[in-house]
Amino acid sequence: MNHDSLARTALAPKQSRWRDQLRQAVRDPATLLERLDLDPVQAAPAGRFPVLVPEALLARMQPGDPDDPLLRQVLPHASESEAVPGYTDDPVGDRASSAARGVLHKYRRRVLLVTTGACAVHCRYCFRQAFPYASEHAASASWQAAVDYVAGDSSIEEVILSGGDPLMLPTARLRALTDRLAGVEHIRRLRIHTRMPVILPDRITTDLCDWLSQLPWPVVTVVHANHANEFDAGVGDAIARLRRTGAHVLNQAVLLAGINDRADALIALMQRSFQAGALPYYLHLLDPVRGAQRFEADERRAKDMMLKLRRELSGYLVPRLVREVAGEPYKLPVL
Ligand code: SF4
Repeated sequence: MNHDSLARTALAPKQSRWRDQLRQAVRDPATLLERLDLDPVQAAPAGRFPVLVPEALLARMQPGDPDDPLLRQVLPHASESEAVPGYTDDPVGDRASSAARGVLHKYRRRVLLVTTGACAVHCRYCFRQAFPYASEHAASASWQAAVDYVAGDSSIEEVILSGGDPLMLPTARLRALTDRLAGVEHIRRLRIHTRMPVILPDRITTDLCDWLSQLPWPVVTVVHANHANEFDAGVGDAIARLRRTGAHVLNQAVLLAGINDRADALIALMQRSFQAGALPYYLHLLDPVRGAQRFEADERRAKDMMLKLRRELSGYLVPRLVREVAGEPYKLPVL
């Protein structure tokens, strides 16, 4: 074992701890409120998207505060069952871009693999909450359809592992995929979209880091945090472990009404994200998924806030404000 491996082993959590934490996660709205000293009678039913909140995230919420920005991201609301024009189950055109089982091919030179439907947290604004994961995930049949599709299109330079959360899969399963992709000569980069370093930092184990550091391509890890309070020492350590593998680490966020739609909240988010080791990347306008209308932020205010961010922050701390529109060849810059 070399010096780097020793240092990683000393810092990294035990392999199975994250699974135990997931088993112990809060799974109903009333318990979630109770745990935060709030009235459980106020809990709205979770409907089609069950509550899922691990202790590691719960510990970063403020007891007694019904407006806590982390709580608001995961607490069901009565409005989720309302039908609102423009809010659909497939707001970004995933179904139309399905190219093979679990493979979404929207943009040139890269494909996205929906690796699993599982996540470590259920975010109430998630645009993929109604995705048909049971029939459409790439890990089935030992990744065969996905590997065949990528191998058969020499224009594909970048493979994006998404979901759900790809790091919910056992590392051995991820390694089985990349071992097979390593035989595809035209791949140049691997990207991983994951909320795991933020939600369940103990998932960034030695085993996972060893897999990442042995990959034959540059790796870009895009984490997802929407509020400065999501970063704590454990998250910073997890991102540091990722960076020691040589991976680039970026953060993407969603602009969410009542959570981060104030210039000071966004400035704090970008500063904390960078401090933790994740460079600000995208700030997405909300994808209009059914039931998420309470999160829609005002677009004019969003533009004003971006101007303020540009005045207040170094250029590399300012994310790109974008909107995804079904059928467009890239995410559309809003400002
Ligand atoms: S972790 Fe990502 S994929 Fe999972 S519910 Fe949250 S936003 Fe959706």
